[in-house]
Amino acid sequence: MAAKLPISERLGVDAYTSDRESHLTLSDPALCVGCVRKPCILVCPAKVYEWQEGRLVIHHENCLELGACRIACHQLGNGALVWEFPKAGFGVSFRHG
Ligand code: SF4
Repeated sequence: MAAKLPISERLGVDAYTSDRESHLTLSDPALCVGCVRKPCILVCPAKVYEWQEGRLVIHHENCLELGACRIACHQLGNGALVWEFPKAGFGVSFRHG
């Protein structure tokens, strides 16, 4: 049986076709400022969400389209995240298990 690769190496073989326009948006960025737990940052294995200088930065080009952030935001956060799949022809292509 082959050894399991760490997640960083497995993500490294995936291919992304990035749209300039983000498929992940916020209904109101002020909701994120008041979001105590910011669970989107914690649940995303691809580190799409980052808190920088008092605002949520979304690196949509790294999105794995899992949808965990949407559930976390709406169940544990302030519900600001508007989650959609990327437009046809854009997004992630998985290449490893
Ligand atoms: S969990 Fe939702 S409301 Fe909280 S910081 Fe993330 S996107 Fe904003």
